[in-house]
Amino acid sequence: MDEQQLFELRRALHQIPELGFQEKKTQERLLTEISKLPQTHLEVQTWETGVLVRVQGSNPTETIGYRADIDGLPIKEETGFPFTSQHDGKMHACGHDFHMTIAIGVLSFFASQQPENNLVFVFQPAEEGPGGAKPMLESELFQAWRPDKMIALHIAPEYEVGTIATRPGLLFANTSELFIDFYGKGGHAATPHQANDMVVAASHFVTQLQTIVSRNVSPLDSAVVTIGTISGGTKQNIIAEHARVEGTIRTLSQTSMQQVKERIESLLSGMEVSFSCETKLDYGANYLQVYNHEEETNAFLQYLEDRGDVDVVVCREAMTGEDFGYFLDEIPGLMFWLGVHSEYGLHSSKLDPQEEAISQAVKVLTGYLS
Ligand SMILES: [Zn+2]
Ligand SMILES: [Zn+2]
Repeated sequence: MDEQQLFELRRALHQIPELGFQEKKTQERLLTEISKLPQTHLEVQTWETGVLVRVQGSNPTETIGYRADIDGLPIKEETGFPFTSQHDGKMHACGHDFHMTIAIGVLSFFASQQPENNLVFVFQPAEEGPGGAKPMLESELFQAWRPDKMIALHIAPEYEVGTIATRPGLLFANTSELFIDFYGKGGHAATPHQANDMVVAASHFVTQLQTIVSRNVSPLDSAVVTIGTISGGTKQNIIAEHARVEGTIRTLSQTSMQQVKERIESLLSGMEVSFSCETKLDYGANYLQVYNHEEETNAFLQYLEDRGDVDVVVCREAMTGEDFGYFLDEIPGLMFWLGVHSEYGLHSSKLDPQEEAISQAVKVLTGYLS
């Protein structure tokens, strides 16, 4: 596929963002695109709303997996693109339209020029939630085609177009969502002694949470506990019987994730006693860290250096989460950032990644997988 065809595909995919495990139109479009390629060495299968394509190698010594995530986000697009999202309130604000397009670009190359090794292209649903990597990894189909190593990329708005950034070891944090409900007793605002105010309870909890990172996690480790929303009550003169806080936890180690969760649970038991309320805790989607295997990452960095035409950055780890970590927990490999230069960041309603990065990534990946 030439550059223009790739850009067109990206724009078409950009217009139909779908949430996790609802990627029906996206799957259909991917299947259509794949069906246009020479099929001689290809085997195509679907898993849920995802797609897997196996390319038979000419003289295989191993099978290499390439993963692209395919879901969008519940964000109202504000880019003003002529190819803006046609799905109201949904947007490809994390660049998964880029990820799919790059994967199709690489696949189209190998559909016409048979690679030496077997390749498996993994179009994975639900990265943003509830998490497609883990069930896909465990699926019979994936296990039957199980790669010996895997690679994936994520666009990076903060880097110049085409820059590649990665590091051996930890790249992305351990993450967990956090949803807590507080149940008390409502009442008239003027008679607080007859009620049990959950706005006060939730407020105390949010304040207490702040000591977890400052007082429980080692200063040499790192963690983030962010509460993004707090809601409760129905009216200004009624004491709230219910309040809810929603947030996220990010840690650099699995141990500190465990510690943070234990502290949250202890704080909540304390809240139940001191505010005579009931609490319900839900960790939602949990993502394992993305840990780049040393050998594969160094080999990839060496390949880039040998090419000599790529700006390479050995970056620091980030507190972002990615469910590709589940693949890397079982299969050696790596993930890397691809610079797309956008003033607005990931998950922004104005994310504006530069399409030139698509052709750059296809070139680099076809070379690496050849
Ligand atoms: Zn995202
Ligand atoms: Zn993403």
